[in-house]
Amino acid sequence: MDYEKVKCLIIGSGPAGYTAAIYASRSNLNPILIEGMQPGGQLTITTEIENYPGYPDGITGTEMMEDLKKQAKRVGADIRSDIVIKASLKEYPFHIATESGKNYEAESVIISTGASAKWLGIESEEKFRGMGVSACATCDGFFYKNQEVGVVGGGDTACEEATYLSNICSKIYLIVRRDELRASKIMQERVAKNPKIEILWNHKPIEILGDNNGVNGVMLENTKTGDIKQIPLTGFFLAIGHHPNSDMFSGQIDIDSNGYIITKNGTSHTNIPGVFAAGDVQDSTYRQAITAAGSGCKAAIDAERFLINRD
Ligand code: NDP
Repeated sequence: MDYEKVKCLIIGSGPAGYTAAIYASRSNLNPILIEGMQPGGQLTITTEIENYPGYPDGITGTEMMEDLKKQAKRVGADIRSDIVIKASLKEYPFHIATESGKNYEAESVIISTGASAKWLGIESEEKFRGMGVSACATCDGFFYKNQEVGVVGGGDTACEEATYLSNICSKIYLIVRRDELRASKIMQERVAKNPKIEILWNHKPIEILGDNNGVNGVMLENTKTGDIKQIPLTGFFLAIGHHPNSDMFSGQIDIDSNGYIITKNGTSHTNIPGVFAAGDVQDSTYRQAITAAGSGCKAAIDAERFLINRD
């Protein structure tokens, strides 16, 4: 088989991947970064980012990712639009295959594949996906102008999405399964002050209702009393968290019970020497753009040191 040899192969293009690419390029590792299915990662489907240091007026996720990509390219990273479909990490050097048919032989690998939105797992959710059911308000909110919609979840994402939708839709039901929100205080306050958002405490969706035209309601169960009620709405947005994109590596690399790649003692080292992990795929605690970027930096430094010590 024809392999392209590379010192440092980076899988994934969120803040972790791009930061790893910037550092690895500046250390002359000539990294190749494979962007993956969602170039730029999860931040490309968020709204304004207000908490990344250095942007006093905030920045959109898409702009930030474009800037990171530009910066990585400027310092020499080779960024490729492709998707990794197979990673053989048990033997050294590592072998990586992509959807376009390319094969790589890598002396070090940085996994920064991020995380993806979670779904409730009910049948009607699948049935109406793209017909009223969405896991991304910023992508699809536009289609529900002046309509009534629901957002499920009680974390920062749910509050952020509900707030975003309040600029487009006539009413937003925030469906929360407990009697409190998990979101940060500032997000909770924003939601509480917003006249278009009604919080349905202690409710969970059990069925999404609709017909050939798409969603027209949701059936909710009261988690305290067991009472069932229906509310009419045309858009139903999931914001119940994420799961790490580590499936491709399971069986080869140590992964915890929630699917997060296990890294050692605050470093990016995995159980396989030469394979490093950065960003949300290995972080069940912080999951922020800034912490992902920081861990991408660590991974590039760890990869560089691994390659020096091995030579
Ligand atoms: P979280 O895991 O923080 O919250 C998930 C929410 O969904 C919780 O309220 C949870 O309920 C609820 N939930 C989970 N499963 C179900 C289910 N099956 N049915 C109904 N509800 C369910 O995820 P987020 O995506 O909100 O946030 C992830 C991380 O990203 C956090 O650290 C957050 O702070 C950060 N973030 C920061 C932002 C910012 O700073 N601008 C914006 C967005 C995210 P319960 O509470 O009962 O478990």
